[in-house]
Amino acid sequence: LSDRLSGIFDKLTRRGALSEEDVSEAMREVRRALIEADVALDVVKSFTDRVKAKAVGQDVVKSVTPGQMVVKIVNDELVRMLGSEAQGIDLAATPPVVMMMVGLQGSGKTTTTSKLAHRLTTRDKQKVMMASLDTRRPAAQEQLRVLGEQANVATLPIVEGQSPTEITERAVKAARLGGFDVLILDTAGRTHIDEELMAETAAIEKIAQPHETLLVADALTGQDAVNLAKNFGERVDLTGIVLTRVDGDGRGGAALSMRAVSGKPIKLMGVGEKLDALEDFHPDRIAGRILGMGDVVGLVEKAMETVEADKAQKMAERMKKGAFDLNDLSEQLGQMQKLGGMGGVLSMLPGIGKVKKQLDAANLDDSVLKRQQAIISSMTKGERKNPKLLNASRKKRVAAGSGTSVQDINKLVKMHRQMADMMKAMGKKRGALAGLFGGG
Ligand code: GDP
Ligand code: MG
Repeated sequence: LSDRLSGIFDKLTRRGALSEEDVSEAMREVRRALIEADVALDVVKSFTDRVKAKAVGQDVVKSVTPGQMVVKIVNDELVRMLGSEAQGIDLAATPPVVMMMVGLQGSGKTTTTSKLAHRLTTRDKQKVMMASLDTRRPAAQEQLRVLGEQANVATLPIVEGQSPTEITERAVKAARLGGFDVLILDTAGRTHIDEELMAETAAIEKIAQPHETLLVADALTGQDAVNLAKNFGERVDLTGIVLTRVDGDGRGGAALSMRAVSGKPIKLMGVGEKLDALEDFHPDRIAGRILGMGDVVGLVEKAMETVEADKAQKMAERMKKGAFDLNDLSEQLGQMQKLGGMGGVLSMLPGIGKVKKQLDAANLDDSVLKRQQAIISSMTKGERKNPKLLNASRKKRVAAGSGTSVQDINKLVKMHRQMADMMKAMGKKRGALAGLFGGG
């Protein structure tokens, strides 16, 4: 994909903001890539619409092509949609905390059950019991028992002839009596979704009252992923998704589809057949796989960092010479907005309490920062370089130009002077400077 996108944009020599046409053309390629990755069509549409809205008007960082820039935006949005903050398995409930694995046959429920049990036992020091509710496949319960032996995890003793709901009742009782922290129920799947499966799953849920209900799905699942998430989501109260066979060559489109359709977080991924082949979900990895563009994203990130570092370096040089003019201040104000306001930046620095109090008193929130930038942009080049030029009539002109008052101008000039003084004083402490300007 990245090659194709770069191709489109390399034809355009123009730099600057991404235009609507640029982005539309790029989105055609993105759409194709998502479909190739087996993302469901509805999801493709809503995703590209969202990216488009974000990308139009975005500036292209020097030293990368517009195509690469779009790739980065697409990647970031994918990661965001897949769930940028990791959501793990929730153990916060009265024990035994019941977890239930649901999904189609062969999706990896039994494997995931024992992997999760293994992890909870070894890493989280939980006392875990597993129970197989699979009465359909002849050796299913035995399969789990063997896995339990390997993982050193207790399994519910097998009693022939019981129905899934009867086994569920027995498992909950046994887990309670046995003082287990966690009970994991491994349900039977079907080769496809049918009413029998759904009714059985719902009945088990009613009895077990699971704290986590995890839909286990193969990363290779294509367009079916939507139906899967929808059907299970309608019948049981899903709390998350487990994506299996992420070690295989599936392109991971199922993750995006299921996440979008169910609205549930992807909590875990299976990356192999072995007991320890279970990982927390990494949205960036799946995003990279969907678009096949990991290196481009890294490149753009690097380029962005370099630009920021370049600026910071130049600024630091100027400050050491005591040459911190209003152009610099304006740039700083922009950076500070990014960093969560001036208070946030200054609180990272030692020995700055007094200035910070004054700034707090000046109530430097985002709107104030923006107003100050407006003031500076209404000044002439000469005034920015040398604020002393600002006499009463010039101040009036600037105030009119920026829609502010002369008093606002005075405040800004005073703040600039204080900052310039402070920075000169701090110029001797190089570490502090680096903290202030390297932080962007
Ligand atoms: P179930 O029918 O949903 O219980 O599926 P199983 O847990 O029995 O798994 C079916 C097959 O998929 C088994 O051969 C597993 O070893 C394999 N499997 C499960 N999870 C993974 C995974 O994350 N990666 C790989 N490579 N194989 C897996
Ligand atoms: Mg099974």
